[in-house]
Amino acid sequence: MRPSKPLTGGGVQQSRLPDTGNTYRTEGVLVLGAQIRVMGVQEQYPFDVEAVRADFPILDRLVGGDPESPGEGPGDDTPLVYLDSAATSHTPDAVVDTIADYYRGYNANVHRGIHQLSQEASVAYEEAHDTVADFIGASGREEIVFTKNTTEAMNLVAYAWGLDELGPGDNVVLSQMEHHASLVTWQQIGKRTGADVRFIEVTDEGRLDMEHAAECIDGDTQMVSVVHVSNTLGTINPIAELADIAHDHDAYVFADGAQSVPTRPVDVEDLGVDFLAFSGHKMCGPTGIGALYGREEILEGMQPYLYGGDMIRRVSFEDSTWEDLPWKFEAGTPSIAQGIAFAAAIEYLEEIGMENVQAHEDLLAEYAYDELTDLGGVEIYGPPGHDRGGLVAFNVEGVHAHDLSSILNDYGVAIRAGDHCTQPLHDELGVAASARASFYLYNTVEEVDALVDAVGEARDLFA
Ligand code: PLP
Repeated sequence: MRPSKPLTGGGVQQSRLPDTGNTYRTEGVLVLGAQIRVMGVQEQYPFDVEAVRADFPILDRLVGGDPESPGEGPGDDTPLVYLDSAATSHTPDAVVDTIADYYRGYNANVHRGIHQLSQEASVAYEEAHDTVADFIGASGREEIVFTKNTTEAMNLVAYAWGLDELGPGDNVVLSQMEHHASLVTWQQIGKRTGADVRFIEVTDEGRLDMEHAAECIDGDTQMVSVVHVSNTLGTINPIAELADIAHDHDAYVFADGAQSVPTRPVDVEDLGVDFLAFSGHKMCGPTGIGALYGREEILEGMQPYLYGGDMIRRVSFEDSTWEDLPWKFEAGTPSIAQGIAFAAAIEYLEEIGMENVQAHEDLLAEYAYDELTDLGGVEIYGPPGHDRGGLVAFNVEGVHAHDLSSILNDYGVAIRAGDHCTQPLHDELGVAASARASFYLYNTVEEVDALVDAVGEARDLFA
């Protein structure tokens, strides 16, 4: 029996965002407090960024090395400038407290005990599914499967749906800008089933070639699986348009929301997707938790991905039957604390407002794009700075991305360097690696300045 009594212990915590008493609306965006000057234009943070930063004690860390002897390892004399949230975001106190509350107050396995602690844990864990469902406009917890991360959510569909439904003559359509989580998964499922895997080309400006998309998607297409916001190019892909084309051909649409769900309002109905995957650790939540959204009737028709305890209804020596959605896809002891904390992270983001998070990302990305362009000697990948997600991947003339990252580390600036799990895209770009700075709700214009200054130093060092 599923717990139905209201949660009395533990549960998620409220954000500690202070009320600045300076609240007004501009173009539908909630504005709190601080004003800044960017590019000579009076701009505004869409919320009180300093108050947000106070929720993330890790941002007060000192790191870095000695810029006089670059690359010589860790130090502790430079303020951290964390520009790697697209890889993993930081976790506010409210979320950390939620995890501590769970372990201190009602730690127990879910769906296995009728004792009070298990009841409380089960209710909080189940309600976390409701919070995730509401956040992305799903119709209810039946459509939300908790997974380890985006990667596992994609593998779940590829294995549970793909192995059963795909065969020779079918095709799956991806794009050239897919993360390996999607690309490798469908590539390998294609090999096992005989289905063809096609890649929509990327234009010189870093956008999807929609004419090519219309050519790739045909009557044999069973699945169109495309990244919503590219983790390398920052491109925001027209998922709703792709969904219309795919659905005209009776194909399903799977959006990789790893970079979009944390950074902007995402609604599965508006996007018209059949599946959506995202990770808690990129949106103020803990590691070890992510979600798969799937349309209920499709999930109903799919076989389980993992077998074992908790996902069954009745087992005999000969056969077994499955639990209702979403538990049919959540075999074994799940990530309970992480699931509950995932909901706390969402409540934290909702308190700020996803429109505001997006506006803040836009502001920083545009500023970084313009400042890095003005610096000279920097090649930025993806669309111009006014139309992209909150990240900038680039290379500096004559400096390997790994060296750049190492030098930036001496200045306390944490960026990512490498192929960002998009090797084939980097092949298309003609580079082995790139540097990537990514921004989140706690980053500031001054931190972008620190990035640009350090990039300038690195460029001059190698000149
Ligand atoms: N898809 C995109 C676009 C990503 O950026 C990432 C992670 O960087 C993933 C998928 C994989 O996410 P995870 O490692 O949390 O499974």
